[in-house]
Amino acid sequence: MFFMIGITQGRKAFEYDQLVICDHCGSYGRYQVFMTYMCLSLFFIPCLKWNRQYYVKTTCCNTIYSLDPELGRRIARGEAVEILPQNLTQVQAGYKSRIKSCDNCGFETQEDFEFCPKCGKRF
Ligand SMILES: [Zn+2]
Ligand SMILES: [Zn+2]
Repeated sequence: MFFMIGITQGRKAFEYDQLVICDHCGSYGRYQVFMTYMCLSLFFIPCLKWNRQYYVKTTCCNTIYSLDPELGRRIARGEAVEILPQNLTQVQAGYKSRIKSCDNCGFETQEDFEFCPKCGKRF
């Protein structure tokens, strides 16, 4: 008997949206919840999932937090729960794309120019 066994890492996003004021970047953002898991497939049919881990990502700056698994399981079941800061542990700090603008001519760019490409003034 020959078995085709594969182990992959899966990722699933939940329908969850919570408005927050981000304590990382200070702007309004939303928590998005997703889960990662290891999946064993037999003949390409997923049959075993384990090591589920729940994460939260902020939409403002893409900071990633690991979420309390109990709360994660409730969100996975579709319960309306509120995520509190004490349920989260930051795993990866996000960054916000900054827009530089020239105080001389008002030109705006996200590129990392040292001088304004329009009027040549130093940023
Ligand atoms: Zn943020
Ligand atoms: Zn300029």
